[in-house]
Amino acid sequence: NLTINKIAAGEVVEGPQSVVKELIENAIDAGATNIVVEIKEGGQKFIRVTDNGAGIYEEDVAAAFMRHATSKIQYLEDLNAVLTLGFRGEALASIAAVSQIQMVTKPRDQLHGISIDMVAGNITNKKQVGCPDGTTIIIKNLFFNTPARLKFMKTPQSDTTKIGEIMSRLALSQPHIAFKYINNNNIMFTTSGANHLDQTILSILDKELFKSLIPIKAEKQDMALEGYISQPTYVRGNRNYEIVFVNGRYIKSKFLYRSIEEAYKEKLPINKFPVCILNLKIHPSFIDINVHPTKTEIKFHKEEVVYDLIYHSISSSLVKSTL
Ligand code: ADP
Ligand code: MG
Repeated sequence: NLTINKIAAGEVVEGPQSVVKELIENAIDAGATNIVVEIKEGGQKFIRVTDNGAGIYEEDVAAAFMRHATSKIQYLEDLNAVLTLGFRGEALASIAAVSQIQMVTKPRDQLHGISIDMVAGNITNKKQVGCPDGTTIIIKNLFFNTPARLKFMKTPQSDTTKIGEIMSRLALSQPHIAFKYINNNNIMFTTSGANHLDQTILSILDKELFKSLIPIKAEKQDMALEGYISQPTYVRGNRNYEIVFVNGRYIKSKFLYRSIEEAYKEKLPINKFPVCILNLKIHPSFIDINVHPTKTEIKFHKEEVVYDLIYHSISSSLVKSTL
């Protein structure tokens, strides 16, 4: 089984950035209102995620690291409707198989917490400890036991960039959660958790963008679009900051990018892209989300309605903002 976990790790654990993503999603799922993420050397040597969420009970701690141990889903049909972010029960098992883990966790109603140490998926130590409510998990020396993966490790610099992007997206998707992101002992950003998206954007992105933001709020046939877009004068050289969430989940979609960019029409310089942070709320029965561990692909059953909603709300807001 440890071998299977190691193989599965190849699928789930693309690199430090996917570890960070999975751990934060677990913290979000656990109802945390405060999440601190600290990395060193692009997360290759050290990743720590601390949350004040539900914690894990003593009797469930070991099981949380087993493959397909998930507390989050009962039936496969739930996959589309599922509101939680993680639901496959393979992240912790896969990460544990290729790293050294320390976890300390305590549910609110327990007097003491549990500390567990693991090396390559084996428990090396488990004991009761005093600790705050919630969960702290430390991942050290990712891929230390998979030489082939180690060899193809990116530079810490490039992993840091990817982690920064994931951190930004997750924090932007959860403005009601206070995030702190620390890289090599430097605080990169903190967000207030006060549930004001504009505040969160200001905490993460730059002031100039903040000044150029245009609010978007529109509804159509059981769908709603909310968030901010940049004036056509504030552009980026790539699509990394065309950030779209569908029901709070970050989605990469050519269709969504096209709907946005066509609304800007000739207002955008060639090969330049707007910045936007948009959340599309849509009934889960109108979408299919690819459940592959690392993909965030989506299909819409009513593409034309989605397109209209995005296209018209953005183009009319752009017109208003230039009047
Ligand atoms: P999944 O998130 O798909 O259920 P994971 O392997 O990511 O699978 O996590 C396994 C289980 O461990 C979760 O279902 C949850 O019960 C528990 N768990 C993991 N991280 C946390 C956390 N930060 N707080 C509380 N419970 C957690
Ligand atoms: Mg998970």
